[in-house]
Amino acid sequence: MMKKIVVVGDTSVGKTSLVSKYVDDYYPGDHLTTIGVDFKLKKVQKNGRKIDLTIWDTGGQERFKSITKSYFKGAHAVILVYACNCEESFANIIDWLLTIENCAEENVVKIMVANKSDVEELIVSHEKGRAFAEEHGCFFYPCSSVTGKNIDKIFNKIIDELRETD
Ligand code: GDP
Ligand code: MG
Repeated sequence: MMKKIVVVGDTSVGKTSLVSKYVDDYYPGDHLTTIGVDFKLKKVQKNGRKIDLTIWDTGGQERFKSITKSYFKGAHAVILVYACNCEESFANIIDWLLTIENCAEENVVKIMVANKSDVEELIVSHEKGRAFAEEHGCFFYPCSSVTGKNIDKIFNKIIDELRETD
């Protein structure tokens, strides 16, 4: 079966790095601007059944435009990313939540992730992030695309939460 995961969040929070680390175990390092949307495919298994995860890595500029509904059409899970050294990216998560509310299906799995947890100075504490995530019906993980911390956990959680049907 095929499952669709959409990754959203402000530009530069590390969406492309996170996806690359998970799919290819590769941290790209330099900033490569994502324009529009990139797709990556990861083949996984759940209870012996094959699942193709299609991961949509969005550019981040969409927040300023009216988002294309097709991004979220048929999405099974959404990963909302902010960087824990960037207050603004955290503040903007609420806009992404509203967009999801408008454009995604009601039962979509929502995971909020605090990327760049490897940085020395955390501007947004994990406690604050977690409380906000819980308030909005999201699972929460701090993670780092540099060290790989929790990257697999994020996707394993999604796989766990996916329903076998649809
Ligand atoms: P995107 O615009 O959200 O796709 O962000 P990118 O993946 O292009 O990353 C933006 C910048 O942040 C790049 O310079 C990355 O090297 C850096 N970056 C991404 N993830 C991490 C992380 O976990 N920790 C740190 N310290 N830097 C990161
Ligand atoms: Mg990108």
